[in-house]
Formats: sequence, structure tokens, C-alpha cells
Amino acid sequence: MVSRILMHVGPSVGNVNVLSASTVPNIGFASPEFNHAMKYALEEYAKITGADSSYTPFILPGGGTVAMESTVSFLEKGSRVLIVSNGAFGDRWEKILSRYPVEFKVLRASAGNVVPVSQVKAEVQDEHYDAVTLTHVETSTGARIPLKEMAYAIRPHVGLIIVDGVASVGGERLNAADWNIDICLTASQKALGAQTGAGLLVASEKAVSRLEGGSISSYFLDLRNWLPIMNAFLSGKGGYFATPPVGTIFSLKKSFELIEMETLERRLERHRICSDAFRKGVKEMGLEIVAVEGARSNTVTGVYLEGIKIQEFLDRSMQGGVEFAAGVHEQIKDRYFRVGHMGWIEPANIIQALRVMENSIISLGGSAGKDAALAAKAVFEKSLPLV
Ligand code: PMP
Repeated sequence: MVSRILMHVGPSVGNVNVLSASTVPNIGFASPEFNHAMKYALEEYAKITGADSSYTPFILPGGGTVAMESTVSFLEKGSRVLIVSNGAFGDRWEKILSRYPVEFKVLRASAGNVVPVSQVKAEVQDEHYDAVTLTHVETSTGARIPLKEMAYAIRPHVGLIIVDGVASVGGERLNAADWNIDICLTASQKALGAQTGAGLLVASEKAVSRLEGGSISSYFLDLRNWLPIMNAFLSGKGGYFATPPVGTIFSLKKSFELIEMETLERRLERHRICSDAFRKGVKEMGLEIVAVEGARSNTVTGVYLEGIKIQEFLDRSMQGGVEFAAGVHEQIKDRYFRVGHMGWIEPANIIQALRVMENSIISLGGSAGKDAALAAKAVFEKSLPLV
């Protein structure tokens, strides 16, 4: 079997130390080792999102959707929510909130675009909203919003700013406290590069104070149940509400240790350079990128592929040793595929991905320039020793 590189949008490229850290026989969730790992992971998550000590971090069993749905805990019956959706994961908020007794409105952008800051600002100035949901990087297209600018523009007018950072935390700059973001959530398997199995969030003091009222949340996802447990871990003790994902927490701990060693600044720079090199290669192949110029993330790229069946391309690439992801945006589903370049991504993975893309396209009768890997290499050579 060819050893494969996972350039899916999450889980993405693995790190053997991080993945193997989750194998912890005979260490349970009430052990001192687990208490320590959980405290460390909670504190490091707050740090990586730029949350100060007024924020409370949570780690829940599950993933990104669990973290998203748990934010219903901050709402009450009749709360009004503005959903800013740039694609499939923005739309997921609508699917979640339609299960609860809240009101919502959705502002949508077409595939590859983002709803402009001015439009969101005008909406929140005109109407009262208790919360606004923003998707930092829309994984269905790779489009990134100007989060800082957006948060500054809407802050004076809205209750809570909830950010889905599932495809951004650990790969994109994000500063919850400075940018006045109330809730920032992610999943363990994305740009943090850990095992699947956990949803993470930080919540501002203002958000946490809303947990004092009545609840419209489900039992399992009600953060009222998780708050005392998280506080117990943060104070060095343990606690139980429902079984935590023990192995994933040890894997997260290892991720955060490696992030500390690399430093967040260098990690963000590595993501920026790898994505730049990848896109230069894509351009060299004559292919179009889904996200519009100015809104391209450092973690996910959607690439249009005309004249070739996407599934055949994905299968051929898989045989060639690289797993990419299918398109999921309804408007363009059959015309593009997605590439994750996040977590432990490194230059060799980008070069390999471009070579495999080229070979797959040519072997399926399409045309692709021959110099994609060279174009990417030129970016890396210029930026060494940064990556
Ligand atoms: N939001 C975004 C932006 C995502 O990319 C994803 C996963 N692709 C989710 C939410 C849902 O996360 P999960 O699949 O871990 O539940």
C-alpha cells in the first residue's frame, strides 16, 4: 500500500507524536495525569485563541458541531440571532438553531465570497440581535472573513459575538480578548492537529453570566452542566459530568506542547507560506481557486476542476498517495475539490500534493502545466528557514 498524505480538510496531515500520545492504557479520567492534561489543554486553548483570564475554556466530547450546538446554552427563548453564512458550515447554524425556540435571520454570500462587513454592520444597526454567528474560515470554500474588522464593526450593536474557528484556530490569527469576541470554538482534529473527538470553546465573562438564567439547551450540551467541571479542572482537581475523550485530551496536550515549542507566530507563518506556495502551484497549473482574492484562508483551498469528474480525480489522487476532500458547497458541488493545508503541514506535503494533482489531471485526460511544484518550491526557497 502506498503511504498516504492526508490533505483533507480535517483531520488533516498527522503528526505521529501527537497521534500516538492518545494511546494511554490504564490512565482514566479521574487520574492525576488526566487532571493535569485537561488543565493544560484548557489553559493552552485559551491562550491560542487570545482569551484572557476573564474567559472560561471548555473541552467537550465530540467535535466542532458539538461546540457549535453547545452555544445554544447562551441563548434563551425568543433570542434573536444573526447568522452570517458564507457556505455549508455557516448554514449549519441555521440547521442547529431551527431545533430551538429562537428567532434567526441569515445573511448569505455566494460560493467563494464572504458577506461584506458593511452589510453585517448595517443589519445589526437596524435590528436588535442577541447574538451573531461568524465562521472565520468557511471550510466548504476556503473563504476567510476579515474577523478583526468584522468584530470591531459590529461589537457596539450586538449581544454576543460567536465565532466558529473550526478551520482557523491554530492556523489563522485570532485574538478573542482584543477583538472582543465572546465565544470562539473549534474541534480537536483541524488546525490544532490532534486526534478527532473533542469540541473546544472559550466563553467571555458576559457569555458565562448568561448561564445563570433558564436553559433551552439539550441536557448533554448544556454548558451549565460542564461549567463546574471545567472550573474544577482549571483549579487542578477533576470532575465528572459525562465521560471526557481521554485519549484525545492527551493528544491535544501533545499538540499544544509542540505548538509552544514551534511558537504560535511561527506556526501561523508556516500556514501562510504553505498556503501561498500551494496556490502559486495551482495557478501555474491553470486552475481557478474558489475563494475570491482577498478572502483566501491559510488553512483550506477550494480548487475548480472543469471537464473531469471530481470523484475520479479524488480516487486517482488517493491511488497516487494523497487524499483530498470532495466539494460540499451546494452551488458548485460537482465542479471543485478541497485541500486542507493545516496543522502539521510542511513544504514536502505541498510539493507532493501538487505533483499528484498534476498526474491525476493529466492521466484523466485534462491539462495541467508542468511547473506547479517548481512554483511552490520558489516560494519555499524564498521563505527558508521560516518553514
Ligand atoms: N464548522 C466548520 C467551519 C467546519 O469546518 C466543521 C467541520 N468540517 C464543522 C463546523 C463541524 O465540525 P465537526 O465535523 O467536527 O463536527
